[in-house]
Amino acid sequence: MKEHVARKRFGQNFLVDSGIIGAIVSAIAPQRSDTLVEIGPGLGAITEPLLARLDHLHVVEIDRDLIARLKKQYPRERMTIHEGDALAFDFASIGRKLRLVGNLPYNISTPLLFHLADYAEIVYDMHFMLQKEVVERMVAEPGESDFSRISVMLQYRFHIEWLIDVPPESFEPPPKVQSAVVRLIPKDVSELNAKSTAKLSQVVLAAFSQRRKMLRNTLKGVLSDAGFTELGIDPTRRAEDIPVADYVRIANYLS
Ligand code: SAM
Repeated sequence: MKEHVARKRFGQNFLVDSGIIGAIVSAIAPQRSDTLVEIGPGLGAITEPLLARLDHLHVVEIDRDLIARLKKQYPRERMTIHEGDALAFDFASIGRKLRLVGNLPYNISTPLLFHLADYAEIVYDMHFMLQKEVVERMVAEPGESDFSRISVMLQYRFHIEWLIDVPPESFEPPPKVQSAVVRLIPKDVSELNAKSTAKLSQVVLAAFSQRRKMLRNTLKGVLSDAGFTELGIDPTRRAEDIPVADYVRIANYLS
């Protein structure tokens, strides 16, 4: 097959480090009958070892050249190829209790994580390679400079575990940034106490619109002084200083 030239616009950095590939597959620990979905299989670095342990694999890929290669390489009985943009893909169309994996294109990783959070109820777990910087934000605690919208929204919905650090040399071409593999496991519904996730999302978005400003200002018109008092939340605090539970309390007060 002719050589594929990596496309920057699709965030193509292909994994070439067999040690890292092996560690990712071990972390996923696929079982033959799992409904596993790989986002962005690319040239198959993780796809191949995953398929060796599975009856069937679903992949979502946007690059037509790569799709043509995958079609040649794998019979339909082994692999279902969903052609198109993972950002617009309806993961519920595959089924329930999905296991999602992927060395994600870094240029769309944050919006993709928000898109995938909407499917938490039908997901069993997710293993993703991401920019280390994004993983730092995902696991950040209140009071840390990395604590942001993505920390609140993902920590509300998932248990998050930082698994493996990956250097640029593990990819071809090497990215300019460090990477890390992370595991997300949806929390049980009994652990989720927001009355409305949409309201929570709205409050978090407003609060972090200017993360260094006081909540009294960023939530002006959303939460009154009386509301702050009733909830016992200091209105002079900033978005990056209050815990996830307080965001949920604000959202529930407004719901
Ligand atoms: N899994 C391969 C590996 O580890 O070597 C490739 C990883 S590469 C970082 C990202 C992959 O996602 C590429 O195959 C790219 O074409 C694909 N991709 C980029 N944007 C996408 C999108 N919006 N929807 C689906 N796939 C996408």
